[in-house]
Amino acid sequence: MITVTAIPALQDNYIWAIAQETGGIVVVDPGAAEPVIRYLVATHCHLEAILLTHHHPDHTGGVEPLLGYLNAPVSVYGPFDRVGRISVVRVHEGDQIALPMGLTLSVLAIPGHTADHVAYEGDRILFPGDTLFSAGCGRLFEGRMEELYDSVQRLGRLDPETRAYPAHEYTLANLAFAATLEPDNRLIAQYRGQARKQRMQNRATLPTTIGLERNINPFLRTEIESVRTSAERHAGRALRQSIETFREIRLWKDHFIAREDAVP
Ligand SMILES: [Zn+2]
Repeated sequence: MITVTAIPALQDNYIWAIAQETGGIVVVDPGAAEPVIRYLVATHCHLEAILLTHHHPDHTGGVEPLLGYLNAPVSVYGPFDRVGRISVVRVHEGDQIALPMGLTLSVLAIPGHTADHVAYEGDRILFPGDTLFSAGCGRLFEGRMEELYDSVQRLGRLDPETRAYPAHEYTLANLAFAATLEPDNRLIAQYRGQARKQRMQNRATLPTTIGLERNINPFLRTEIESVRTSAERHAGRALRQSIETFREIRLWKDHFIAREDAVP
């Protein structure tokens, strides 16, 4: 059976470790080397491959020191040719990556947060990097708002049972914003209570599922009247299309200060 484990890193990143009983693991977005090395030592596992979703240093910074430490051939996949001195197997939309543990992941090009951003998806497991978070989505850095909108909606159309493993623990801050947009959404209130408990026990709120996200993530709910109405009140004008609501709440979220993040 495939397991996916969170390796907390940096301030609020998760490096995800994909494993099977064989003792080999694949890590996604190692922003730092030390937590991965500690994990390999503690679990007596060896590293077989690295998957990268985009070029930001908090996702790639660990690759070079990690491979320097291991001094063993490890395949690195990502949407570019190099990380420092390390060659990367460049991936594109539609590529299939057969991981050693028998899991095959497809590459989805999902530009917006960065122009090169990809997700890896297969067997109802999704690594969306910084494009989809629980109850939120990534900031727009390099792409156009339309691209980010299409990318986020594309992930939202995956099988609802798909487990999503985003790269940051942003759930509580995102839920504070989601609750502001939809104060009457009982699922948001319920999930927020659960996430608070998990964070108080220093546990990850992730993975989430696409099915849950459709019910609580405002960036997948821009067609819902309550989300649109809140966005219109903030904008001070009517928002006729879903993309306009998306744009308004994405820009709003950039400046939104959560009253309560409750992260210990
Ligand atoms: Zn990023």
